[in-house]
Amino acid sequence: LSVIETVEPRIAGAIRSELADQRDSLKLIASENYASPAVLMTMGNWLSDKYAEGTIGHRFYAGCQNVDTVESVAAEHARELFGAEYAYAQPHSGIDANLVAFWSILAHRVETPALAEYGVRQVNDLSEQDWETLRKRFGEQRALGMSLDAGGHLTHGFRPNISGKMFHQRSYGTDPETQLLDYDQVARTAREFKPAVLIAGYSAYPRRINFAKMAEIAHEVGATLMVDMAHFAGLVAGKVFTGDEDPVPHADIVTTTTHKSLRGPRGGLVLAKEEFAADVDRGCPMVLGGPLSHVMAAKAVALAEARQPEFRTYAQNVADNAKALADGFLKRGATLVTGGTDNHIVLLDVSGYGLTGRQAESALLDSGIVTNRNAVPNDPNGAWYTSGVRLGTPALTSRGFGADDFDKVAELITGVLDKTTASTTKSGAPGKAKYTIADGVAESTHNAAEEL
Ligand code: PLP
Repeated sequence: LSVIETVEPRIAGAIRSELADQRDSLKLIASENYASPAVLMTMGNWLSDKYAEGTIGHRFYAGCQNVDTVESVAAEHARELFGAEYAYAQPHSGIDANLVAFWSILAHRVETPALAEYGVRQVNDLSEQDWETLRKRFGEQRALGMSLDAGGHLTHGFRPNISGKMFHQRSYGTDPETQLLDYDQVARTAREFKPAVLIAGYSAYPRRINFAKMAEIAHEVGATLMVDMAHFAGLVAGKVFTGDEDPVPHADIVTTTTHKSLRGPRGGLVLAKEEFAADVDRGCPMVLGGPLSHVMAAKAVALAEARQPEFRTYAQNVADNAKALADGFLKRGATLVTGGTDNHIVLLDVSGYGLTGRQAESALLDSGIVTNRNAVPNDPNGAWYTSGVRLGTPALTSRGFGADDFDKVAELITGVLDKTTASTTKSGAPGKAKYTIADGVAESTHNAAEEL
């Protein structure tokens, strides 16, 4: 840091301050973790200076032999860890991984057959008229994904995201009574809507998915099954999700981030059946530029860590701790979406405390507990204010928290929310969630967090 200090002290200060914040607070953001020193150090070195557009052994720049090694090792670890036929380590983020997946599915389903039909080798060889016809075919494709308020992700076909503009989109939700994924509804919608791609995966659904069933539904209607395991990749890597709950044997394409429960650097990864490998390999230049070689190297290190036996213990602890957290809430009378969890996420419905998700999130933050507000199914408060708070166990499990600690976390959270009063609701000043925490609670909770 002293090197950075001499160039731009405000950045050195922000880094120091971030470390202090992450140490002093209870990090319960379900998509965050603590990467190991090996992973962090692999990101800060000379690999960052190298350009390497292209694929392994086939680059558009000279001198890429070390990046070839890095990318090959990352892909090898990914294939071995997940039992995948093919792995692509270049995507810079989860969104990029999904874009690569979408465009490789479209290339596979639409572009390659069209080229054969018109008897040309590449799109540049098409006449203007045939190119227009092909562009129309791209525009006719449909995607079916989980709705946002059931826990789906913005990149699964929603209008504000490019995926919602690429595809005609429809979504499936959860059962209104149980709040659980309704496979019959997914199957009915798929039969009627006939999507090109069925997307499974979530950001805020606290339950496991049966991917064998999802594959059956997709393949019955001729759709490609794409699973976005960004959130639960660590539980797949750690063999907590096996059999029908492991997406890799069942899906045609699996995407993930590497920085959430997998505990690597910020980045993305695509796994695919061999059939899709050549299309996925076109990620650069289809939607990506030069790969971040230093981040691919850090992915390789994180994946090597995830292949160690200790990672399985970690992943099992993440799931056990989520149960302990959920039980801690339930025994204190809190309401949980779906009534509990069997993954790493707990979705707390805070409406019973007379609060919006935004007010609860702010009150908890003031008490040293970092969470994020989240919509609950059919949320009356919408996606900005929300009625829920999403909690996850990967980060605190990395800090060594066990079941008793998570019970204490539930006690702290319910303690803060019990004593928080909403002074106004939606009409609060812009940018401010208005609430009051009864005297002393913020202070004492903060101290308790430090003790843990
Ligand atoms: N997919 C899912 C399911 C996610 O939850 C997220 C991030 O929250 C993403 C993709 C996007 O990842 P990134 O922020 O790395 O682009």
